[in-house]
Amino acid sequence: MKPRRTPNQERVLTTLKSLKRFISAQDLYLKLRATDQGMGLATVYRALDTLKREGQVQMRTLLTGESIYSSLQQDEHHMTCLECGQSFPLEDCPVHHLEDALQQSHKFKIYYHTLEFFGVCEQCTDSEVLADSSCQEVRGGS
Ligand SMILES: [Zn+2]
Ligand SMILES: [Zn+2]
Repeated sequence: MKPRRTPNQERVLTTLKSLKRFISAQDLYLKLRATDQGMGLATVYRALDTLKREGQVQMRTLLTGESIYSSLQQDEHHMTCLECGQSFPLEDCPVHHLEDALQQSHKFKIYYHTLEFFGVCEQCTDSEVLADSSCQEVRGGS
């Protein structure tokens, strides 16, 4: 199966590959517009959708509900703090072997998987403790 891509899809893919990180469709649109060959936001979304179905692009959804996209070179997983919204990347993929096993046992061609952990980061845990103790100090003031 050889996908026939439009020039716009090629440019979206090339730009994603050069970024090596996740980016929102809106930011990608702005980036493309900064070059001499811009394209409409709807075209960017359509190209991303096509590339996603080809397995060339993967998508993550942020806590804000915003979708971000990346080309497939990296298999990156995150721990996301529900307090500050910061994402901390994991160094290794803990389920890589599972993907191989599933492909074999279910005869399913897996393009990518997502795996995310949610909780509270160290900083926010610390500042919660600080906020609790500073409450008592503030009470005496004003
Ligand atoms: Zn945090
Ligand atoms: Zn993984």
